[in-house]
Amino acid sequence: MLPSRPPSPVVFIASLLGLAALPCAPEICLLVRNHEDLKYFAPVLYYEGIVSFLLLAPVLLLGRWGARIWVGSAGIVMGTATLVTGFQAVSGGARWDPTAHAALLQTSPGEAAGFLRAFMSPATVGWSILIVAGFAVGVAVNCRAVAPSRRVAGACLLGGLLFSSYGVHNAIKYTGDLRHAVSLSDGSQLQIIDVGINKFHPVTLLAVTHYNYQVTHDYYLRSFHAIDAHRAVFQGAHPVAGATNPRLVVVVIGESASRRHWSLYGYARDTTPELRRSGGDGVLFSDVISSSVGTQAVLRSMFSTNFLALPVFPLFSAAGYKTHWLSAQYNQGVNDVEIAALLQSCDQRVFLNGAYDGSLLPFVRAAMDEPGRHVIFVNLFGSHVRYADRYPAEAAVFSGEGEKDGRIATYDNSIRYTDHVLAELVRMLRARHDASCLLYASDHAEDVYDSTPDTYLFRSEAIATNAMYEVPFYVWFSPEYREGNAAFVAGVAAARDRKFQTEALYHSIIDLSRLTHPLYDSRLSVFSPDFVERPRRVGAMARVYTK
Ligand SMILES: [Zn+2]
Repeated sequence: MLPSRPPSPVVFIASLLGLAALPCAPEICLLVRNHEDLKYFAPVLYYEGIVSFLLLAPVLLLGRWGARIWVGSAGIVMGTATLVTGFQAVSGGARWDPTAHAALLQTSPGEAAGFLRAFMSPATVGWSILIVAGFAVGVAVNCRAVAPSRRVAGACLLGGLLFSSYGVHNAIKYTGDLRHAVSLSDGSQLQIIDVGINKFHPVTLLAVTHYNYQVTHDYYLRSFHAIDAHRAVFQGAHPVAGATNPRLVVVVIGESASRRHWSLYGYARDTTPELRRSGGDGVLFSDVISSSVGTQAVLRSMFSTNFLALPVFPLFSAAGYKTHWLSAQYNQGVNDVEIAALLQSCDQRVFLNGAYDGSLLPFVRAAMDEPGRHVIFVNLFGSHVRYADRYPAEAAVFSGEGEKDGRIATYDNSIRYTDHVLAELVRMLRARHDASCLLYASDHAEDVYDSTPDTYLFRSEAIATNAMYEVPFYVWFSPEYREGNAAFVAGVAAARDRKFQTEALYHSIIDLSRLTHPLYDSRLSVFSPDFVERPRRVGAMARVYTK
């Protein structure tokens, strides 16, 4: 075979243009998938082109090897960013957001594998192959081609700068100072970067999101690790006068469960038969939403104090309760991950690393059998993707043909399995004849073809449909608890239609425990007569939620 001649400078320039254009692909996916208006698309492409030009311009300036190294590195960076943000666009129709970023960086191998399996489809596999191949070909062709003369390279650079100048001018003029201060409860501030026009190019979108993630993540880690310096603020809990303190408080945090898929809330399939059969025993709240669609953000908001963002568990310890965190989810390490750091002050922590939720029951039983008072947090794996991995084969009751019906059937099976686990927990509490109570709330919901019949929206702060936030919320009291706290229980039943968002949930748990404390604010407890309804905001744009 004769050695082929290296491609001409025209091919060199064309390959750079191709590499510059490829990062537009995620935005094109969003345009097509979400039927967005084309007229908004020209500026998107324009700003994307500017960032690509700035990233690739050095290839025109450097010598032969310098240019090769640069185009290879830029290709890897741009390709990876396009692959990641595009995966989100193809699988969920959403632009990359802080929740997705935190989930990517704070996941565990098991969880990540489950996620990839759930979103493995011809579209996402095709996407990954196309992007990797596109960038690889672009870089390889560019490396092989003859570089243009200095005059042509200079003309290209000048053209690119002229092309970019209007946009760069606008970016400076209208975006102003990119940094933006977020005030914290202790009076200090976090400096984050406005995503603004950066959001259209995968590289700037990922870089800015990562910077903001790092700043906030560092802050919360510092707060959570500072708990020992603040133990004193948790002293001072005492029983509410005249109340009966429960011996056992079980707080079940569900995972990705949607109210819209609970038959107790009116869903057509019988997904909650066991709780239904237990009769009018519990109180079902009709209008509760989560504050975020990210597990980590929700757990932080539920269980860290409004002031100083301290984990709230020592408050219960100081009141004489042993605290347990029993989780079917993955253990995410000791100190470097936010959820792990948040939970360090729990007296007992158990992670079953992806086991079925039913495997938690023996651990709950053992905690209940210990003498003394206990607050037992049960963190279900619930309906986390991939849904079919969340319940044993014998618990599969519903089935469906095709991608959509199959996915809905597995989701509904996971909800039905949660119903079984909750009913078991209630049976265990009932059998003990103690004053006890159980609260179940899902961390967030999921949009499983609820808002759009043809599209699986999953969850995203960027899209933020109501269905992603509407969670089931259920409370159960033992007869002994009811007897000792009759007026309170009547108040809870009367509160069932309150508009509540689960952030700062700990105030409600303090109430259920029939305790009071200097940190307790009755206006924030959904169970308190003093509760104040406030506007509930959801999503990246902080829109006010209306049912
Ligand atoms: Zn979650």
